[in-house]
Amino acid sequence: MIKISDRVAGIEPSQTVRLDTQAKRLIAEGKSVINLSVGELDFDPVTEVVAAAHAALDNDPNHYTNPQGMEETRKAVCEYLQSTHDLTYTVNQILITNGAKQALYSCFQALVNPGDEVIVPVPGWVSYAEQITLASGVPVFTSTTDQFQLDIDAMAEAITDNTVGIVLNYPNNPTGAVYPQEDLEKVAQLAERHDLWIISDEIYERLVYGENTFVSFAKLAYERAIIVNGVSKAGAMTGWRMGYIAGSEQFIERCKSLQSHLAGNVANVVQEASVVALRLADKSTAEYLQKLKERRVYLMDWIKTESHLEAIPPQGAFYIFIDVTSLTHDSEEFCERLLNDFGVAIVPGKYFGKDGYIRMSFANSLANIEEACKRISNCVASYT
Ligand code: PMP
Ligand code: GLU
Repeated sequence: MIKISDRVAGIEPSQTVRLDTQAKRLIAEGKSVINLSVGELDFDPVTEVVAAAHAALDNDPNHYTNPQGMEETRKAVCEYLQSTHDLTYTVNQILITNGAKQALYSCFQALVNPGDEVIVPVPGWVSYAEQITLASGVPVFTSTTDQFQLDIDAMAEAITDNTVGIVLNYPNNPTGAVYPQEDLEKVAQLAERHDLWIISDEIYERLVYGENTFVSFAKLAYERAIIVNGVSKAGAMTGWRMGYIAGSEQFIERCKSLQSHLAGNVANVVQEASVVALRLADKSTAEYLQKLKERRVYLMDWIKTESHLEAIPPQGAFYIFIDVTSLTHDSEEFCERLLNDFGVAIVPGKYFGKDGYIRMSFANSLANIEEACKRISNCVASYT
């Protein structure tokens, strides 16, 4: 029998990835399943990005490049941060990674010593806790308000001598919450008072619907902010695997050493195409956001008028986090029933630290969403 380390044996598979794989397999087998489990846009990247990838294939992409990222790609990230957020970074402050997921993994590896605590507000994305645990750290979960906004008092109470950082993610996966600037300022004050890092996962920053505007955490606490972002979500490029970290030069230098052992450079073709994706971010967002807005309006209308369920309108990202406690507190049971008996794949809130809720992605066509809503209504009716 192969001996597996305790560290890896104790890790749960990513439940979002597991469910998406299951739904895609069922669809490939010819089953009538609508997959609203995973968070990835149903659009193609803008044509210029694909053309840039084709051109990169003819531009000798065959050799290792700097594990920190190609100079051109890091420069494009700097230009993006400057033009979008008026934030000044040099190329030495940027690390290009295999998606935001690997960027986060590297951040925790670089920040956390055994037993160090990292605060994670819940509901929160499935991979934070496992990645912190893999870095021998301890995730400390704090609750959010009934509107899924930050509970600053709960955060302050959770801070101990072992706390090294706080994870922020806004627009939030799974709730869609966007935090107002005054709350972010309070987090910045906490970080200053207790000497903490803020790992700010800003992967959904471009997908906001207008209530709270997005403010990068680096605008509030440049020195303490470790910004994680990438082209996956807003660029409709989840499969390309390009993310980045923006932080202090000293921190990035350490992450670069880690990257040189962990992965080496991100695929050269992807990096070259990502330069174009970053430059054309406004163009692609304008196109995608319009469609996402229509779906969001449809869903909120369905929630209010037909669903017999409740949800707080998402302010950003492309998820709606639905309260099913009027039917059951067991979100896994609800989602299994919905998939097996009604053919819709969505994610139990339990995996994000909030049972009694379900996460539905609206990164799917309006026609599919409409059909999924009918099926969910039938599932809801099956409880009575
Ligand atoms: N952070 C959050 C909150 C996410 O939802 C995701 C989606 N996988 C990621 C990070 C990772 O993104 P990427 O696909 O760029 O690795
Ligand atoms: N972040 C997306 C989600 O939550 C993609 C899957 C994953 O990597 O977790 O659905």
